[in-house]
Amino acid sequence: MFTYSDELFLQLIRSITSSELDALSQPIVQKVYQSYDCASCGRCCSVLNPPFTQKDSATIAPIIDLPIDVFESKYLRDIGHDQIKVMQCTPCTFLEGTLCKVYENRPASCADYPHLHHAGIKYRIRSVIKNKNICPMVDEWIMTIFNRLLLK
Ligand code: SF4
Ligand code: SF4
Repeated sequence: MFTYSDELFLQLIRSITSSELDALSQPIVQKVYQSYDCASCGRCCSVLNPPFTQKDSATIAPIIDLPIDVFESKYLRDIGHDQIKVMQCTPCTFLEGTLCKVYENRPASCADYPHLHHAGIKYRIRSVIKNKNICPMVDEWIMTIFNRLLLK
């Protein structure tokens, strides 16, 4: 049996088409998403600086009784983008234990993380690999895909 390495994984990913990878991936993503309870994890919220769109700021600022501009200067960092800023600190200000204090209204990017369910994952594979040591769902997805491709 081969031992996992990012290089070998990338080599295996290069051996199949984007649509083949999406077809292989989707049932694995469904299974992985159902197997983990984010409410008892919170690792991504501890180490990433999630993006906040203007819409996210407009939604969350009133929840914590702040004007949008005060909310943004207090909690967010400019990244030279008109529409998007990022959370200044890690762990995220809104993380309490393993739970998000604004969960129902969390930024769209947080709700979407770890982004495994989108088509065209072959073209994002390097950013998926970067999340391997953060999110256990990504780790399981990668190891499952890795082992399936080894058997092909
Ligand atoms: S806003 Fe909530 S879901 Fe997003 S990083 Fe912060 S704690 Fe996590
Ligand atoms: S690291 Fe993954 S499993 Fe943990 S809370 Fe974030 S998305 Fe959920």
